[in-house]
Amino acid sequence: MRLAVSEPRTGRPMSTPLTRRFEAIVFDWVGTAFPDRQSDATRVRRLVEEACAAGIELAIVSDSNLGDVDAQLLARPAGPGGLLLALNHGPEVFRVDRDGPRLVRPRTATAERGAGLTDPQVIDHNKHAELGFTDKSDSARSIMLDLWRNGIEPGQVLIVSAAVEDRSIPGGVVRLCGGAERFAAVLEDQIARRYSGELPLVNADPVWTLTIDDAGPLLARVHESLLTLADGSVGTRGSTLVSNPAEDPSVQLSGVYTGQGAETQLLAGPGWNAIEFADPVELSTRRVLDLRAGTLSQELVSGDAQVQALLLSSLAHPATTVLRVCGCGATLSEPSRLQPPPGVEHEDGVSDGNSWIRVVGSPGSIVAASHERVSDHGSNLEPRPWTLDRIACYEGAPVGVADERVALARLDEAREQGFDGLLSEHRRAWATRWEDADIRIDGDPELQLAVRLALFHLTASVAGEGEAAVGARGLSGSAYRGHVFWDSDVYVLPFLAATHPRAARAMLEYRVRRLPAALEAAHAAGRAGARFPWESAALGDDVTPVSVENRLGETDAIRTGQLEEHIVADVAWAAAHYIEWTGDEAFASGAGLELLVQTARWWASRIELDADGSAHIRGVMGPDEYHERVDDNAYTNVMARWNLRRAANADPGGALEQSERHRWLELADALVDGYNPSTGIYEQFVGFYELEPLLIAELAPQRPVAADMLLGHERILTTQVVKQPDALMLHYLLPDEVAAGSLERNLDYYEPRTAHGSTLSPGVHAALLARSGRLEHAVDLLRLTARIDLDDIGGVTAGGLHLAAMGSVWRTLAFGFAGLHPAGDALVIDPVIVPGWETLDLRVRFRGSRVRVSVHQGAIEASADPPIAALNPAGEHVQLGRAAQTFDLSSASKARPR
Ligand code: BGC
Repeated sequence: MRLAVSEPRTGRPMSTPLTRRFEAIVFDWVGTAFPDRQSDATRVRRLVEEACAAGIELAIVSDSNLGDVDAQLLARPAGPGGLLLALNHGPEVFRVDRDGPRLVRPRTATAERGAGLTDPQVIDHNKHAELGFTDKSDSARSIMLDLWRNGIEPGQVLIVSAAVEDRSIPGGVVRLCGGAERFAAVLEDQIARRYSGELPLVNADPVWTLTIDDAGPLLARVHESLLTLADGSVGTRGSTLVSNPAEDPSVQLSGVYTGQGAETQLLAGPGWNAIEFADPVELSTRRVLDLRAGTLSQELVSGDAQVQALLLSSLAHPATTVLRVCGCGATLSEPSRLQPPPGVEHEDGVSDGNSWIRVVGSPGSIVAASHERVSDHGSNLEPRPWTLDRIACYEGAPVGVADERVALARLDEAREQGFDGLLSEHRRAWATRWEDADIRIDGDPELQLAVRLALFHLTASVAGEGEAAVGARGLSGSAYRGHVFWDSDVYVLPFLAATHPRAARAMLEYRVRRLPAALEAAHAAGRAGARFPWESAALGDDVTPVSVENRLGETDAIRTGQLEEHIVADVAWAAAHYIEWTGDEAFASGAGLELLVQTARWWASRIELDADGSAHIRGVMGPDEYHERVDDNAYTNVMARWNLRRAANADPGGALEQSERHRWLELADALVDGYNPSTGIYEQFVGFYELEPLLIAELAPQRPVAADMLLGHERILTTQVVKQPDALMLHYLLPDEVAAGSLERNLDYYEPRTAHGSTLSPGVHAALLARSGRLEHAVDLLRLTARIDLDDIGGVTAGGLHLAAMGSVWRTLAFGFAGLHPAGDALVIDPVIVPGWETLDLRVRFRGSRVRVSVHQGAIEASADPPIAALNPAGEHVQLGRAAQTFDLSSASKARPR
């Protein structure tokens, strides 16, 4: 078929074949779909309904009204693609489905054009200030935004219209001119492409996609980690489609472990993301992770053979995975199916043409049910193109046997939706999450991509319901065996509390359900309350290893499980932090209160009261793991003090005995914290100042540095070298609990002593440096943190992504730079301005409201829907509403010590 198509940039109409699939078609009414208002609509109606059934999004832009357009078309599409009508010259938009048209955006939206419809996501994305569709510009603008919010990017949109001005086409959009016949031919062509299994255009936007070309075996495992696809429930490493011995493919299910004690690890599930060819082929590969759509595209080329694939793990329907492979010139081996993990016992079966495999571990098990279809196209073509469609659904049982019937039922539903239905919903689900969580940094594209990669993996790693066990590496690899550390409570949860509260709640539910185990652990230790374990898995018992073999083959003791008691207060902090952001009263007065109370009871029974009335916590390890068994670690003590006070004040008039409350407050007041008002510094623990005052600069030319490796275990104990922020963590987590104005002094003291020997470290320093106005250094450390996995900085990304570091990237931007944090019922907005960033744009949810803050050079714009109380950069109480308010930053922009 040859049609008049305009080049995306020049708009010059040209005669060229329409050679690819589009995800959305925007078209004119009279002049394009029909010659005139009297024309018979039967054919177009059928094509419109068929196109929507095939998953294509359609939008009609017209200056007519609903009566005219709907009465003539009378289409009643059933989806999965939708039909939008943008009518009356303006932003009035109807969605048409089986039941007819439904108003989704009223005319009055025109008044908010400035705030809503010129959404910078679309406009900036296209480097296009104005869409300007002659007399239909508002309609077109709102439609482009709607499509963007459905996860469809401009390059996937086809406009069929004679009335569109060339200059109004956003970059990447293809425009086609033509009358009714041509329009019908376009629809027929696009429907046929869907039925033949054609894949969507791969997004090429460099700030939304991570592209990895074949890079040899050395980096193969790092790339697999970076390209992980997860939906909160199932995580799959982004291995190449055809097995590669250098890789370490895995599928893991959140919360499903096997093994005993320290050996407990995430159970490996059956693989859904590989195919085999009849003849071995040497392939070169390109993989593109589309962060906005949540899909992984793969292109494999070998001589004449070409294979393209799209993979997703459905965010809309977690535990549903989808693979489509289109090939030509390479023959699939028969049969192609799910792969059991190597070396693991499994059983399998077939039910109604669907196959399933169950992997049984202890205590957990995983079952996957799958269906696949291979279609051979065009038997007269040589070589013959083919398409493989595979849907695999998972069910995991943390304890006991996973039921294949659940996985099979999930599979039946998924098959009903088919590839295009699942893709549309998945893309939409991701777009919705980005609406609440994206951070835009204009002026630094490299950092922008790295930040989005972090937000992507944080989002993908946590389930939005039930309980979420978030291991240190999420679902992206086997390092740390999937164990849950404080990483999840203190580093990952803040991002979710502020962008997707349901997921933060699910993370807390993981702790709530393990409260009985923590109560038992405290009891076994002869104390009261709850002692959460440093590392935990399915059951909530302590799974921290007690020793490790070092490089010399000797056994080193691991004392973190025994000594890093601060985890108890970290869990309480996570609960309180979630309550502050969300205002979730049911949690605050129910399970959250229980967490606060039982953790406070632990501290009350743990604290030692000396004869002089001072209270102490002796024999612990702070976050700085280079120093073991220390007394009165500032971090632990101040967190415990805060925990006691927070619990004592959590439920005034509640069931708690007054005497217990009083005791907690007394103990809190008596706890020493190492703070010296004359120096303004917190001593990290008793005796820290007496250690050898070694600075990192004397040890290594740059950081991060594994100072424990460099100096050896015995030596490092005697120095002031710190693995990661310890006393400084207090300024990060509890800025109101530390001595006012003490950030500067503590930064000055601890910064040169900190090795950043953990990936949890530089992000915290970045945030605090930003708070103290040391912006250049802050940006350097933010950049370093954001690239930890991209550049495999620690050399261990092969084992999975560093989720905590990714969480610290978010917090550095939201708290460190934008200065967002709750203060009672109000959200504080107190930004610092980075000279090179034109705009830092953030979206968060605060107390059920969608908040948007754009920090520009010299001013910020902020809005909230519904309205919220806020403190503006000048520290004044204001009400933020739907219409963006501007606050001048000329005085606030001067970096000031906090
Ligand atoms: C860090 C801990 C962290 C653990 C898991 C260690 O290297 O010191 O703070 O919890 O890694 O990420």
